[in-house]
Amino acid sequence: MSGKTINVTRASLPPITEYEAMLQEIWDSAWLTNMGRYHETLRAELRRYMGVSDIELFVNGHSALELLLQALELKGEVITTPFSFASTTHAIVRNRLRPVFCDINERDYTLDVEKLEGLITERTAAILPVHVYGNICAVREIQEIADRHGLPVVYDAAHAFGEEYEGRGVGSYGDASMFSFHATKVFHSIEGGAVCCGAPRAALMRKLYELKNFGILGKEEVASVGANGKMNEFAAAMGLCNLRHIAEYIEKRRQIFECYLRLLGGVEGICLPVLNPRTKPNYAYMPVRFRGYRFTRDEIYRNLEREDIHARKYFYPCINDYACYRGEYDVRETPVAKVVSEEILTLPIYPDLEMADVERICRVILDGKA
Ligand SMILES: *Cc1c(COP(=O)(O)O)cnc(C)c1O
Repeated sequence: MSGKTINVTRASLPPITEYEAMLQEIWDSAWLTNMGRYHETLRAELRRYMGVSDIELFVNGHSALELLLQALELKGEVITTPFSFASTTHAIVRNRLRPVFCDINERDYTLDVEKLEGLITERTAAILPVHVYGNICAVREIQEIADRHGLPVVYDAAHAFGEEYEGRGVGSYGDASMFSFHATKVFHSIEGGAVCCGAPRAALMRKLYELKNFGILGKEEVASVGANGKMNEFAAAMGLCNLRHIAEYIEKRRQIFECYLRLLGGVEGICLPVLNPRTKPNYAYMPVRFRGYRFTRDEIYRNLEREDIHARKYFYPCINDYACYRGEYDVRETPVAKVVSEEILTLPIYPDLEMADVERICRVILDGKA
């Protein structure tokens, strides 16, 4: 044991002086929230950086997704993946919609488009795929299927900040995409989130703005049953600081990602992520699948824990195996997601992770100890 705790991630922080400099203006104006100056500046800068035509900011990614589904006024079923974070399905269920789970593919763990169309019925209201680990879904095939059935496509792009697919910002695909700016994500505003669109969607954006502010339209008019989903100025200021450093954060992640590929490559039973050449990646996660390897996933997890290295079983269990959904769903209906969730481990990756620690992590994986 080296006496040093390593977690799966560690929040990126700008030099503290940069953040302090931005606080003065908050004190001068005493404008702390409700679409202040930093909120508006961050919105404009993100629109440019992400290559999207519309963007609305939120207090977190989950409320962005929940309010997006509400804004679309859906009824019935939403086809989604069980291989994601709780938020994806919870947002569906909390909108009184019914999730229908589509299995994932073995290549990049996103929705298996071969199995998608068979799940569409007259009750289907939308498709909600996830760019899991920053792996971009088969967006063209999904759009084709959705168009054939006149269905909206909403992406959970919480993992995909800063990515491009075929030269276009990933947030420009589908009808809309949700991004998370949580502290543990590639880009963060402490807590935060956004909804983006590739083409101008003025009515949808107006509705989102309304819903994140209690449904208030004017001083004396409340038009809908909204929530409080506003991003505050302290969060927006952190977002603006982090955005200045995003290229450097992603570059450092790339070096760590490639170091893992070098150290774990070519070992029987270790299945490493394969980057899609059509994608400009963000190296958000380091998911490694252990299948027929000398140690099982759970043994490796425990070996790492013994060295105070905290990898995570993202995403285990599958959402359709959660206690709160048990009895209604059966994880055996999505067999690929089930087996991947039992064999995958996300290894520590963040800009400040030292190469010596990556080497130590790989030694534990390969030898059982550091
Ligand atoms: C982080 C995350 C969310 C939720 O975002 P928050 O900003 O934490 O609310 C949703 N979906 C996925 C896949 C996530 O990883």
